[in-house]
Parts: sequence; C-alpha cells; structure tokens
Amino acid sequence: SVSRETLEFQAETRQLLHLMVHSIYSNKDIFLRELISNASDALDKVRLESLINKELQVDTSDLHIAIDVDKDKRTLTIRDNGIGMSHDEVVSLIGTIAKSGTAELLRKLRETTDAGASQELIGQFGVGFYSTFMVADRVTLVTRKAGESQGTFWESTGEGTYEIETLDEAPQGTAVTLHLKPEDRDDQLFDYTGEWKIREVVKRYSDFIAWPIRMAGEEQPLNSMKALWARPRSEVSDDEYHEFYKHVSHDWTDPLETIHMKGEGTFEYEALLFVPARAPFDLFSRDGKRGVQLYVKRVFIMDDCEALIPQYLRFVKGVVDAHDLSLNISREILQQDRHIQIVRRRLIKKVLTTLKDLKAADGEKYTTFWSEFGRVLKEGLLEDPDNREQLLDLIMLSSTAAESTSLREYVERMKDGQKDIYYMTGTSRAMVEKSPHLEAFLAKGYEVLILTDPVDEVWVEQVNEFDGKPLQSVAKGKVDLDGAEPPAEQAAGFEALLTWLGEKLADDVKEVRLSTRLTTSATCIVGDEHDITPTLEKMYRAMGQ
Ligand code: ADP
Ligand code: MG
Repeated sequence: SVSRETLEFQAETRQLLHLMVHSIYSNKDIFLRELISNASDALDKVRLESLINKELQVDTSDLHIAIDVDKDKRTLTIRDNGIGMSHDEVVSLIGTIAKSGTAELLRKLRETTDAGASQELIGQFGVGFYSTFMVADRVTLVTRKAGESQGTFWESTGEGTYEIETLDEAPQGTAVTLHLKPEDRDDQLFDYTGEWKIREVVKRYSDFIAWPIRMAGEEQPLNSMKALWARPRSEVSDDEYHEFYKHVSHDWTDPLETIHMKGEGTFEYEALLFVPARAPFDLFSRDGKRGVQLYVKRVFIMDDCEALIPQYLRFVKGVVDAHDLSLNISREILQQDRHIQIVRRRLIKKVLTTLKDLKAADGEKYTTFWSEFGRVLKEGLLEDPDNREQLLDLIMLSSTAAESTSLREYVERMKDGQKDIYYMTGTSRAMVEKSPHLEAFLAKGYEVLILTDPVDEVWVEQVNEFDGKPLQSVAKGKVDLDGAEPPAEQAAGFEALLTWLGEKLADDVKEVRLSTRLTTSATCIVGDEHDITPTLEKMYRAMGQ
C-alpha cells in the first residue's frame, strides 16, 4: 500500500469541526441520522448507476446498511455497500466544505454568544458528516468506489488535519467507524454502544429509509422501509413527515408545511413536498439548487429536478415519484416530457394554494414564510405569468401606512377618488420616506407602497395592474393629483426661473417644469414614464451592462 499522508483541512472546515468537537449541538443523536442518510444516498446512487451502466462490476443483490457495535473498544461502525468514494472524492467531499454560505455562517457564529442561536445556525446549515465529531474523538472511514480496485483509508480526530492512504483492498462501499468519546454519564440514554439506544434512534429518525438498516449479523431490519410518499396521509405521523423532510433537505429544523399529493389516471405519480421554515444559506447563490428529487417507482433518479419545479419555488423540498418514466431519462428529455409538464403545473398550483390557505389560516406563520422566502416568490411575478394573479394575492409589501400589507388590503384602504395604486422603489425604507416625491401623496392622505427589494424594481415594470387598478410610480411621469396644472398666473411668475434652470441644467435634465407634486420641498427630480429607475440603473451598471 501507498504511504500514509497527513493533509490539512480547509480553513472553514477546521472552524466547523472545532464547533462540532466542542459540541454546541444539544441533540447528539442526529449524527446517526446523518450517517444513515449519507449511506442511503450512496445506495441510491449505486443502484441507479448499475441500472444505467451495464459494464459496472458491482453486486447489488443485497444493498443495505449495517451497524456494528463494539462495546469494549467503544466503537460504532456504519457500513454501506453503496457507490463509495474515490481517493480524490474523499479529499474533496470530506476534507472541504463546498457549501455556499459557509463563510457567512461562520461569521454569524462568531458573532453570536448565545448557545441557542448557534444551534439554530448550525442546524440550518446542516453539517452532515462532521456531526460525528460531537460524539467521537476519532473517526475512521474506509471506502472503495464501485468499479475501482483500490480503496481509501481516511482518519481524523477533528483537529486541524486528517490522514489519508490508498488501500490495495477494501470492501465496496463505505464504512465509517466512530471511536466514541468517554461517557460522561453512565446512562443508557446516552450510550451509543447500547443496542437499545441504536434501535431507538434508527426508528425515530430513519424508519422511512428505503434500504434495510440492520444490526451486524442480524437478518431483521430495524426500519420499516416504507416509502412515506406511497403511504396514505392518514397513516403517517407529523414526526415521520418531519424526519423525512430532514433527510431530503439536509435541514435540521422541522418544515413549515407538508404537502402530500397523488396523481391518478394516465400518468400516475406521488409527491411529497415541504415548505421549509427557514431559508437555506444558498438561496440566492448562482449555483443554488432546486429541492425536488425525482424517483421512478421507488428508484431514485435525480436530485435538483428543474423540470418539476420552477426557479421561484426553489425553496420547496421533497420527492416526486413518477410511475411511467424510463430510468435513464435525461434532464433534457425530462424538460420536454408532456406528462412531466403537467405534473409541474399541478405542483405549482398546489404549492400556491397551500400558501394561500396558510395566509388565510395562520397570519403569523405566513409572516414567517414571507420573511424567509418572499423575495424568491416575487421572482414568480416575472417567471410565471400564468400564475401572476395567485402570486399577486400572496405578496406582502410595506407602505407608508403599514409595515406589511397585501395588495388587497391596500386596495380596501384606497381613498375616494384614488384611481391608482401608488408605489415608490428605492434601496431602503428610510431613503424612500425622505423622498420629496412622496410629499403631495402624503398630503392628500394617499398610501404609497415602499418597495425596497431589488426584484421589486423588475416586477413593477411587468405587472401593470392589480384588481383593475393601475400600478403607478410616484417618481415617474406627470403625477396629476388634482387633475389640474399649476394656475396660469403662478406659472407666468416662474417662467424666467424655469428657462434659466433649464439652460443651466441642459446636460443633466430633459425639462424643468412647475409641479403640484411638492408641498414643502422646492424641487425634485422625476423620471419619464418609461425610464428605468435610478436603483435599476445602478443594478444594471453593477452587472456591467
Ligand atoms: P451532504 O450529505 O449534505 O452532501 P455530508 O457532510 O453528509 O454532506 O457528506 C458530504 C459528501 O460526502 C456527500 O455529499 C457524499 O458525496 C459524500 N459521502 C458521505 N458519506 C458517504 C457514503 N457513505 N458513501 C458515499 N459518499 C459519501
Ligand atoms: Mg449528508
């Protein structure tokens, strides 16, 4: 065998490991869920690979997860005969954290002194494999990738470095051995070498895993292996749904909403979708993934199935199991598949009605949803014109009269004679509130929507009206509040000044005119009806356009 190398963890990984070693997370049981979840993914991958690639030399006759306990040595081994990892994969997947938002997470973690808040953050991020260092002071991994002859040994104490070595032989798949920390309590509740404890944790967190999870040397699986989405809703408990959500989402927090649906007829499918309670760190990153997995008759086909869910619903997590699809269907073909397009439309409708019902039934919960995902949902106003009406009913905006209002509520508050829905865009509420553009509107008691998300600049250009009322920017065009021009005698008195200003500012403005829109300020700059707004102009410039 090749000699053993000692490598350093990437800086971010070191920091996260430090947090794990000093275990800020109170529920340590979940390390087992994380390892089983990884093993299950690896088994999904090897089955799919063997179905697609007939050349692959791999035995798939008994794909399973085995748990082996050695009470004397205080070790716990989780073994799978899944896809395994190559030497380079071990280095890149286990030695570094590719997750976007890692730096951001670490910055926030450094800033919080509150243990509860740190737990929330770490849970939201999900540290997967590294969670083993909450309970182990040394972790050993032996793996061999399906189709390769050599294996890889990896070991670390979770400090700054890890050891890695190429092995001439290793069983196919991955075995992770935890050298458990000395017990601080002699209690069955905390003893991971106790069979009772293992059974309980597997049952609680991993019952739905589709592969058998066995105690080494036993036949009978610890889990029931029932695909949750195929069971009737009435038979599945909230806890089961929530654990399944954590498995598919890699989130450690319960979801906000669960959507379980079934399509019958010419194209059968089952869908189990979730609306998370919190936004993941990579929600706005370029390579941010969509969260719906595709299965075909219980066989995992792909993560991040963009054919099933639009970009603006990328926060939705879950599984769609379609019955009549080929196992090696490509992403491109999937995009064009007529049945998949129908399923996609149904999923969108169902998610939107679920949100609508949530908004009606539980305002507080909806506020949580909105503060986490509202900015993403607003992208739908551009991306999905077919569902624009439903989306307009879901959006919450702030205004001069309310911290948060729906368009419907705005319309209900409109003054007699007010024909338009007024808005102003800007980079912050404070900036908009100071703007002279608002003066005349506030003087008349009109409410003005204050739109400060970058995406607001874009959708207001596309959405012309709500409930038959035009959307009108207070910073654009001639806003003629009283239906009257300034009185003629007043205009005459200002003529010389306007001409002089017009000449002085000839390079900067198109026209200088007298207006009724101001009450206390002397002047303001307005755009033409069809001009882009200053914020949008800045955005385009920043993007190099
Ligand atoms: P995540 O599961 O969220 O990607 P983890 O830290 O749990 O993060 O795992 C990191 C990566 O390591 C996985 O995405 C996978 O590629 C690889 N990995 C972990 N465990 C296994 C395993 N048992 N078999 C094969 N690959 C694994
Ligand atoms: Mg994982």
